[in-house]
Amino acid sequence: MNPIFASLPTTIFETMSGLARQHDAVNLGQGFPDDPGPQDVRAKAADAVLNGWNQYPPMMGLPELREAAARHYAHWQGLDLDPAREVMVTSGATEALAGALMALIAPGEEVVLFQPLYDAYLPLVLRAGGVPRFVSLTPPHWRLDEAALAAAFSPRTRVVLFNNPHNPTGRVFDAQELELLARFCTRSGVILVSDEVWEHVVFDGARHISALSLPGMRERAVKIGSAGKIFGMTGWKVGVVCAAPEIMAALSRAHQFLTFTTPPALQSAVAYGLGKEDGWFDAMRAGLQRSRDRLAQGLAGLGLPTLACSGTYFLNMDLAALGAPIGDAAFCRELVERHGVATIPVSAFYAESPVTSVVRLCFAKQDSTLDEALGRLAAAS
Ligand code: PMP
Ligand code: GLN
Repeated sequence: MNPIFASLPTTIFETMSGLARQHDAVNLGQGFPDDPGPQDVRAKAADAVLNGWNQYPPMMGLPELREAAARHYAHWQGLDLDPAREVMVTSGATEALAGALMALIAPGEEVVLFQPLYDAYLPLVLRAGGVPRFVSLTPPHWRLDEAALAAAFSPRTRVVLFNNPHNPTGRVFDAQELELLARFCTRSGVILVSDEVWEHVVFDGARHISALSLPGMRERAVKIGSAGKIFGMTGWKVGVVCAAPEIMAALSRAHQFLTFTTPPALQSAVAYGLGKEDGWFDAMRAGLQRSRDRLAQGLAGLGLPTLACSGTYFLNMDLAALGAPIGDAAFCRELVERHGVATIPVSAFYAESPVTSVVRLCFAKQDSTLDEALGRLAAAS
């Protein structure tokens, strides 16, 4: 095979959403809500399209959005960001990730990654010339382990690419684990690229701790957020990147040559949305938590236990607890083809030594969608 193709595989989301369409399945695979998103934020975007500026906005993003993001993160995460020098708008978190890797690593430098990993990470690291070093998280607790971290770091480590809250495990890492990671980064002079797209989607009173607020990390962390996740409108590719000015100077150079900018109407609607009152964010979390519990209880009723989930849109079923004879990939294929429910095999998020007993389901759905999926699963069992 063309070696470039080998490093650019077909994503599991394309594969499973394709199978979902083919088999007319309830799609609990790819992570997206099935409601239209907040009406007022969409109305702002529509108004900006009709009555606003639709030519290139500034390369770094609309000042109103950069200022709104700085205020938002001061309020929610206690960060003190200079919107003029430390905040940049990208076309989704994915562009921010690609740009960060393009800007921060030279070919041959090592990047520490955590398995299971969000599926874009490895192709982006490889195409940037980085050498991946993996830290494996294992079910049921998926905890960060000091010995595994120590084994992955080397004098060639340049970047750690971290995700918290974590897709696909649903873990929100605790302060102790985050401080451990920060200690490794500061000790080795490494930059921590922290994908925090799920920062608002945390449950049971959990609080998101940004990498930028960890000891010693203000000058060496890159925080990445996504309006797609904050407002539950995943097609809105609006990312917000925050970093100290020296790192931001490198990131903005990469951004110039990737997308240069992001649709201005969406930017102004996101600026408006970030200023919503606390109650809106609390209600969004509470609604998702209810959906999580509805799906978890429904699955438990069918004898399908799930692992703990304290953030993201995802619940994981542990097939090991079922003594299921087949691996996750075969299980998911059978579920979509024979029973009309699409899910994601978590082994797809490993590059080496995969865990093959965990299946991810998206619960960010209306009750009727979750109930339909549960009904189909009940009929199958
Ligand atoms: N990072 C993680 C961990 C994600 O789960 C996702 C998508 N859900 C992204 C990045 C992509 O974000 P965006 O759509 O803003 O590019
Ligand atoms: N982030 C979404 C998920 O984890 C999917 C993103 C995509 O389809 N590329 O399900």
